[in-house]
Amino acid sequence: MDDFDAKIHQAQDILKKARHLVALTGAGISTRSGIPDFRSPESGLWDRYDPMEVATMTAFKQKPAAFYDWIRPLAQKTFAAQPNPAHLALARLEKFGPLQALITQNIDGLHTKAGSQNIYEVHGHLREATCMHCLQIYQTAVVLTDFLANGHIPHCPACGGILKPNIILFGEILPVTVLNRAKRHVHQCDVMIVAGSSLEVAPAGDLPMLAKYAGAQLIIVNLSETHLDYLADVVIHADVVDVLPQLAANFVPDYS
Ligand code: ZN
Repeated sequence: MDDFDAKIHQAQDILKKARHLVALTGAGISTRSGIPDFRSPESGLWDRYDPMEVATMTAFKQKPAAFYDWIRPLAQKTFAAQPNPAHLALARLEKFGPLQALITQNIDGLHTKAGSQNIYEVHGHLREATCMHCLQIYQTAVVLTDFLANGHIPHCPACGGILKPNIILFGEILPVTVLNRAKRHVHQCDVMIVAGSSLEVAPAGDLPMLAKYAGAQLIIVNLSETHLDYLADVVIHADVVDVLPQLAANFVPDYS
């Protein structure tokens, strides 16, 4: 048995005994669905804009056009994307296995499309947008059609204010309620699996440490090394799409 298979078996054994599994996912789980990691210099989304300059609240208020110009390719890819086998494996682990909570740093909504239920989107999502003036919330599928097709900045149909997608901009405070509920699961879990996150962005990147200190076992599946690999019980450096389906395969509907 080679090293990869041995690690898969180790992870399967841990999951077999798990009662309260929490998953933490990042950009790496969606790359095979065609969503680039917009924090990665290789994504191509940095070519014209530095996210730190266009995707902050101050920048959004001052130059919404630059923000929308930056996010448009990401939004187009997001709306067209479909969940891949890694997303589907996590939905399966929730439906038929021990997964109780799925915490994600992604804004692409692919876990929802895959059928996962108990999702904590700590960086927000693109399904809704809020009017910056009257605070009315809209479904983006309705109000962003013209923006996606023609690049026109979306305005509130009621008052004409500028709409902001419900994603957390750089430097913006994370949604406290969502984060606190997620953390409660992290404290209660007996196993945490990190899938496709390099754990560089706080505070989500600190959650595995919280889990570990609360006594949980930790499985990390990520293409590259993370700064928490040393804490993990099993580390698999591979694409999540090649790993998660194997970890979920043992969990099937119980007809007994
Ligand atoms: Zn409005």
